Amino acid sequence: AKARGRNGYSFYTPSMTGEGVERLRLETFLRRSIEKDEIFLNYQPQVDIDTGALVGVEALVRWNHPELGLVPPIRFIPLAEDTGFINQLGQWVLREACRQMVRWQEAGLVVPKIAVNLSVKQFERGSIVNMVADTLHETGLEPARLQLEVTESVIMNTDDAMVFINDLHAIGVGLAIDDFGTGYSSLAYLKQLPVQTLKIDRSFIKDISTDVNDEAIAIAIIQLGKSMNLSVIAEGVETTQQAEFLVRHGCHLAQGYLYSKPLDADVMLTQWKK
Ligand code: C2E
Ligand code: CA
Ligand code: CA
Ligand code: CA
Repeated sequence: AKARGRNGYSFYTPSMTGEGVERLRLETFLRRSIEKDEIFLNYQPQVDIDTGALVGVEALVRWNHPELGLVPPIRFIPLAEDTGFINQLGQWVLREACRQMVRWQEAGLVVPKIAVNLSVKQFERGSIVNMVADTLHETGLEPARLQLEVTESVIMNTDDAMVFINDLHAIGVGLAIDDFGTGYSSLAYLKQLPVQTLKIDRSFIKDISTDVNDEAIAIAIIQLGKSMNLSVIAEGVETTQQAEFLVRHGCHLAQGYLYSKPLDADVMLTQWKK
């Protein structure tokens, strides 16, 4: 239905029932998406700002449905989390990401590391450590070349997060805190967890040359990382001004459209194999 907004603009507002039906339809489609081969990964390069060298990639899940087209992850990840499908999806993503690293290697492209996102829901079942260990074993990827990305909410909302994260560290995989600074502000966990990387959220990078508060936060995260001996990666770097700001303040790793959009595996190979 079209509704009149306060400012007079018309916008689309599905009715409550319409919304429920829409959600159910999406849910039904999503449940079959893996078996129907509609799910795939894109890979976004992470680079050394000074040299342009590839330091890693982040695996980002994509869903291409024949009727709906490309559905953005912000629409289907929360749904997958609500329905429990995230466990199956997360496992598929991890296996595919690890396999792709081996395929690139065989094709002559050495990608030093792959970052894979984990949802808080994947920690609730308790089998996450076995799942990761089994996948590494099955695909033959060295554990040190896998970096798992979790948000602060995973650490704060999961009862046994400390245990799981220490176990993951024990099998040799790396851990990054995603969207750092946007979640709970307790920093105490940082000194207790075997974390290697902080990712500065795009929201702080976006207005870096115009918003002094965002600048202050970005600088504080870089300093914190430095003093705790962590790598810091800036997300969503789109301009050379942002990159120059980061380097000036001691952050040398970045991911963003300035360097590359997320790419299909084969495009990644042709663009980055020298
Ligand atoms: P995220 O983990 O923070 O991933 C970064 C997002 O920023 C990606 O969006 C990426 O395409 C986008 N991005 C990267 N550089 C730029 C830039 O320079 N400018 C702008 N405007 N955007 C940039 P994407 O792929 O749509 O993913 C959105 C979110 O969905 C991710 O945010 C992550 O939270 C979630 N997600 C994606 N793949 C997975 C997955 O396999 N598992 C789980 N659990 N979540 C995933
Ligand atoms: Ca991420
Ligand atoms: Ca992020
Ligand atoms: Ca983000």
